[in-house]
Amino acid sequence: MSRYRLAPSPAQEAALREHCAHARFVWNLCVEQEAEWRPGRGKMPRFTERCRQLSEARADSPWLARGSVIVQQQAVRDHDKAMAAFFARTHRRPSWRKAGRDEGFRIVAVKSGDVRRLNRRAAEVRVPKAGWIRFRQSRPVPGDVKSFRVTLDQAGRWHVAFAAIPEAIPAPGNGEVIGIDRGVVVSAALSTGETLSAPRLSHGRQARLVRLQRKLAHARKGSNRRGKVKRLIAKLKAREADARKDWCEKLSTDLARRFDVIRVEDLKIGNMIRSAHGTVEQPGKNVRQKAGLNRGIAASGWGQVVSRLEQKAPGRVEKVSPAYTSQRCSACGHVDRQSRESQARFRCTACGFACHADVNAAINIAAGHAVTARGGFGLPRPLNREPQPVLLPAARNGLESLAFRRGTMSRSDGILPVPGRPGE
Ligand SMILES: [Zn+2]
Repeated sequence: MSRYRLAPSPAQEAALREHCAHARFVWNLCVEQEAEWRPGRGKMPRFTERCRQLSEARADSPWLARGSVIVQQQAVRDHDKAMAAFFARTHRRPSWRKAGRDEGFRIVAVKSGDVRRLNRRAAEVRVPKAGWIRFRQSRPVPGDVKSFRVTLDQAGRWHVAFAAIPEAIPAPGNGEVIGIDRGVVVSAALSTGETLSAPRLSHGRQARLVRLQRKLAHARKGSNRRGKVKRLIAKLKAREADARKDWCEKLSTDLARRFDVIRVEDLKIGNMIRSAHGTVEQPGKNVRQKAGLNRGIAASGWGQVVSRLEQKAPGRVEKVSPAYTSQRCSACGHVDRQSRESQARFRCTACGFACHADVNAAINIAAGHAVTARGGFGLPRPLNREPQPVLLPAARNGLESLAFRRGTMSRSDGILPVPGRPGE
């Protein structure tokens, strides 16, 4: 993710805050409209219709009219995308944005001259109604910027993130197929036998996070202390998220370069995460176990890895049914729940083949088998196939160290510059 610290002047900051307020206001209008929908009231207005409604609102409200139409239209667009993700059942329903918590807006139709370099350290970006705002060029800015997003975090820092869809990486043409299993013991296992771990916070920082969270629970609402603790927690979490994004970029680039076809499980991750909480009418079953499993999934950033792979290796990513991949023997094809000796170990009850459990699943995924069960349990694989994940202290960067050992990637030049996420 190409994100940079923005350094607005006080006057510019006021303009940015107003953009945030407009974006939040428009987003919340969309949320309200969706919330008021009842069966039989006809179709919800979509993007075009809402933009027309926005023009009317701007004509009525001098406060809105004063703002940027791009900022406001993009808030409608963002909400539209969020609803599409909700209907695709990959994300939760978009909810209200709160002042001080969800501050940000997006600028599109960026022209090539709208981002310019000042010197080795600094660059500036043109924001409508705020002018040129400086930012620290902590890494090269992607060349072909189409849009960017400005955000204010809870620690009071402004950021700009440039979106550029990563270029497709040409297939190596070696005919090789890889299967990846999203594991919990490790973040991902490859059918080649490699196991990869997404970076997590160091032990020291994890302990600090727990201490801070305890402090937060005791701090009085609205107190200065509470605000301070919250900012510190946000900082630690941001550090972990950054490291994970970085890991995801390197992993997807490496796989797209090495293999012609990449097979992954067809999972609706958002669904799994949501199902743990259950709904009011139907509270979740085994909430505790699933919550544990889901922590592992969310932490491994699996969704990010797959969407990145689809961009870097377009048409080369195949989703296969995840049914029984963890119970099937990759050597003889025998399916038996008992073969899964433990979270980490697979030993076939028929042929005795033994393997890392996640690697065994990855080999099944690579084969792309539509496995059917023998023995009569015709249900899809249960959600809690890994009942209690063991969260191992992961290597700082599983893939890099691994690739380094294999000698396929050099630390200095083997890694592509990190592109931004599209639509961010
Ligand atoms: Zn076997």
